[in-house]
Amino acid sequence: MRQPQVAAVRHGRKGNDVVVLVIGGAGYIGSHAARALRRAGHEVIIFDNLSTGYEFLATGFELVKGDVLDAAALGRVLPRSDAVMHFAAHAYVGESVLNPKKYFHNNVEGGLSLLNAALAAGVKKIIFSSTCAVYGEPAKVPMEENTPRQPVNPYGVSKLFFEQALESYDRAYGFRFASLRYFNAAGADESGEIGELHDPETHLIPLALGAAAGRAPELQVFGSDYPTPDGTCIRDYVHVNDLADVHVKALDHLAAGRDSFAVNVGTGQGYSVQEVILEVERVTGRPVPRKIGPRRAGDPPMLVANPARAQALLQWKATRGLHDVVATAWNWMERSRGVAAK
Ligand code: UDP
Repeated sequence: MRQPQVAAVRHGRKGNDVVVLVIGGAGYIGSHAARALRRAGHEVIIFDNLSTGYEFLATGFELVKGDVLDAAALGRVLPRSDAVMHFAAHAYVGESVLNPKKYFHNNVEGGLSLLNAALAAGVKKIIFSSTCAVYGEPAKVPMEENTPRQPVNPYGVSKLFFEQALESYDRAYGFRFASLRYFNAAGADESGEIGELHDPETHLIPLALGAAAGRAPELQVFGSDYPTPDGTCIRDYVHVNDLADVHVKALDHLAAGRDSFAVNVGTGQGYSVQEVILEVERVTGRPVPRKIGPRRAGDPPMLVANPARAQALLQWKATRGLHDVVATAWNWMERSRGVAAK
C-alpha cells in the first residue's frame, strides 16, 4: 500500500497529506467533503460526470469530467491518488423501484468499474457513501451496525452489493474500506456557498422551506397514521458538514493502516415530519402550507441511528442539530436563488 508520504514527494509537497480522488465531488455531499478534506490539509481531485452535479460546486478544485464507467478516464487520475471517496450514485428510493436498470447500471456496474480501476492502479483505500437503506425495515430502533442487511428496494440492494464487493476486495486484494451508512443528509455549508441542489427535489427539508417561501407547492405530508407519537415518520437528520467530517476521520483511520469498517452516520436523535415542519416555521418565521396525503411507498415509520460505533472507532459525533440543519439549508436557499442555472 502506498504511503501518503510517497504522494507528498511525488507532488513536491511536504507533510503527510493524502491525495484524495473524490468521485462525485461536484454533488451535494461530495462538495462538502471536498472542502472538509482541504481544510484538513489534504489534496483533492474531483471526478464527476456532472449528470446531477454542478460545476460551480467544484469551484477552486481540480475537476476532471468523467464517468465511473470510463475505465480509461479513471486510469488517468488514479495513479495520482492515494485514496478514493465514492459519492457518485443515484439515490432516489422511489425511482430505483421504477427504474432498477438505471440504479444497477450506475451504482453496481459503475461501482465495479471504479473498484477494478482502483485495483489496477494499486489504490486500495476507499471510502464509500453507503446508507441506512441497506438495513431495510429494521426490527429495532435505534439501529446498530449488526442489524441484518435486508434492503427492501433496488437502491438499497445496489448499495449493499457495493459494501459486499468491498468486503470481498478487502479479503482477496487487501483493500481497506470504510462503508459510511448515512441516515438523512441535510443542511448546507455555513458559508452559504454550497448546499443541496436536486432536480427534481424530493427531500423534506428543501420542499418545506420552498413551501414556506412560496417558491414551491404546498408540502404533501406523506402519511399521518404511522405508529409514531404524532403519526408522521421519524428520521435522523445529520448535517452535511458533520457527514463531511466523518469522511476525513475515516480517511485518517485508513491512512493510519487500520482495518476496514462500517459505521452508522447519524445523530442518534429522531424527528418526525411534523417536528421538522415546526422547525422550518420557526427558522423562516413563515407558515408551511401543507396537506396530509397518503403514505409514500417504502417509507419505514422510524429510522434512527445508534451512532456509538462511529464515536468509539473514529471519535466522531454529530455536533449540529435539527435547528442548524434547517437554518443552514434556509441560508443556502436564500443565497442560491438562480445559482443552479448550469
Ligand atoms: N416526506 C414528506 N413529504 C415530502 C417529502 C418527504 O412527508 O414531500 C417525508 C418522507 O415520507 C420521510 C421524510 O419526510 O418520512 C424524509 O423524507 P426524504 O425524502 O427527505 O428522505 P428519505 O427518508 O426518503 O431519505
